[in-house]
Amino acid sequence: MLIVFLGPPGAGKGTQSKRLTGQLGIPHLSTGEMLRHAVEQGTDLGRQAMAFMEQGHLVPDPLVFDIVGRRIDESDCKNGLLLDGFPRTLSQAISLAELFQKTSKQLDVVLELIVQEQEVIRRLLGRAETENRPDDTREAITNRLKIYREETEPLSDYYAEQKLLHRIDGAGDPDVVFARVLASLDSKRTS
Ligand code: AMP
Repeated sequence: MLIVFLGPPGAGKGTQSKRLTGQLGIPHLSTGEMLRHAVEQGTDLGRQAMAFMEQGHLVPDPLVFDIVGRRIDESDCKNGLLLDGFPRTLSQAISLAELFQKTSKQLDVVLELIVQEQEVIRRLLGRAETENRPDDTREAITNRLKIYREETEPLSDYYAEQKLLHRIDGAGDPDVVFARVLASLDSKRTS
């Protein structure tokens, strides 16, 4: 199964993606995690991406495509995968569609976690205290939410037009949200 997970930063995509990929037995491809790993390893790509990430800006497409494209090519992605944090712009979504077409893959479903902006800010500031992510500062959070509204939110309509989008209420306890995620996937299977 090929799944894309959408939602603002702090919506719980990471948590829900990990649980879902564990259950489905498919790899979880988080571009944010891959980029943070490259930064930690001090690779060329990591060094180039770091400044953008710290400010809460998008990392330029060529760097992101490089890291995602190579990962999708690996053998464990043959029977499905979940993309978390990619695509984030319409141009990334179009490139992904082209890549899938070239490799005869078909996107099955796009899950979008809906969480109010005030709640997302509260969660991100809470996470800043526990996880020490350099992009969980107030300034970077403001940038990330602005970019989300302007660049990523339009993907919701793009995928809705393709009849791929499932909107899920992301408020509340992670167990309750996960039950909604599973119910949404079930409704897709039986539709
Ligand atoms: P995330 O963990 O998904 O919130 O991503 C953390 C940061 O990594 C983002 O704020 C961006 O700087 C960068 N990033 C992750 N995914 C992408 C992407 N698809 N395109 C551009 N930048 C990205």
